[in-house]
Amino acid sequence: MRSLADLDVTGRVVLLRSDLNAPLHDGVDGSEVADDTRIRASVETIQSLRARGARIVVISHLGRPKGGPEAKYSLTPVALRLGELLGTNVPVAVDISEARTMASRLSNGDVICLENIRFDPRETSKDAAVRQELAAELATVGELFVSDGFGVVHREQASVSDIAKLLPSAPGLLVQAEVDVFSRLLQSPERPYVVVLGGSKVSDKLAVIGKLLEHVDHLLIGGGMAFTFLAAQGHEVGSSLLEADQIETVRGFLATAKERGVDLRLPVDVVVSERFAGGGETQVVSADAIPSGWMGLDIGPATIADFESVIAQARTVVWNGPMGVFEIAEFARGTRCVGEAIAASPGMSVVGGGDSAAAVAVFGIEGFSHVSTGGGASLEFLEGKALPGLVALENSL
Ligand code: ADP
Ligand code: MG
Repeated sequence: MRSLADLDVTGRVVLLRSDLNAPLHDGVDGSEVADDTRIRASVETIQSLRARGARIVVISHLGRPKGGPEAKYSLTPVALRLGELLGTNVPVAVDISEARTMASRLSNGDVICLENIRFDPRETSKDAAVRQELAAELATVGELFVSDGFGVVHREQASVSDIAKLLPSAPGLLVQAEVDVFSRLLQSPERPYVVVLGGSKVSDKLAVIGKLLEHVDHLLIGGGMAFTFLAAQGHEVGSSLLEADQIETVRGFLATAKERGVDLRLPVDVVVSERFAGGGETQVVSADAIPSGWMGLDIGPATIADFESVIAQARTVVWNGPMGVFEIAEFARGTRCVGEAIAASPGMSVVGGGDSAAAVAVFGIEGFSHVSTGGGASLEFLEGKALPGLVALENSL
């Protein structure tokens, strides 16, 4: 794969795929960026390209528009924030044709942003020919392609993978840094290698576990996904998050872990409540004694201590998914304590997952080796899957 330094960008129009998919909220003059973490993460590559005299057309998606323009998913507030961070105005081109005209008038170091690429349904089409048609149109706007949206490199999409086949391409600095970290984790993690999994996207993440069991020494499971495991062991889980149709699969994981000698740990105690909200009655119960009608919303103190003791011995820790409903104060302790233990680990510590990264920011936890900007992409990388956006860069012109 080429590196960014190998592209001769001076005076040329560079199409830059970033992941500017930031959460918005209502501000005084319409929508405003609520959290600019992803936008900030994209700045280094843009500044580096500007410093080298590139003329930049940023491409990004925002949210999940239904296949046409929707004002609430416009990139305008994002481009405004990006402009503030870059110290330059970033105009938005409403469509590819306008982007082409604007791009032809750019000076070295200028930046424009194409409106939300997912306003065009071809971007995410399952039909390769349809996606390629959009990619070919995009390729008329610029001469080079830089892929810097790590959050989307695991997607087969026109502005992620198809375009890289049409223009000389390279990864941006953010994608390069992510690839370096996750390649190291996949190929040569220092041991003991501990993975901590949690969160609520249970079925998505269950798919990863089978593969992880081939690589890791310890797998610590908390958050919403723990209850499917507890159920697979025959425990009642009350009204906790449960994927009943995954129980058989999870039983298979428990058996595989045993065969391979992987230390798979589940919560031994949980904080339960009768409702999914703060302010109600809570209690700490043993994980095999969740009362009917109560739901587990955090790992308990004995589990925290158990997980901390494993993490303290680790040389490599990867964390994906909060240990509890950290957004509600009563259920935040597991996530905060486990997060702090991971950050304090003397080995390599990596966080993946949007909500996990948000928890790290909310609790002000510092000291991780790397906080990834891509949850899904980082998990697929660790599974050893080929990521379409990276494969396309390897095979690029
Ligand atoms: P990430 O974005 O880090 O990959 P997920 O999206 O999978 O994480 O899950 C994050 C969400 O999981 C958080 O909003 C959190 O409230 C929720 N969660 C964690 N533990 C539980 C639980 N026990 N029950 C229900 N939801 C939970
Ligand atoms: Mg999430």
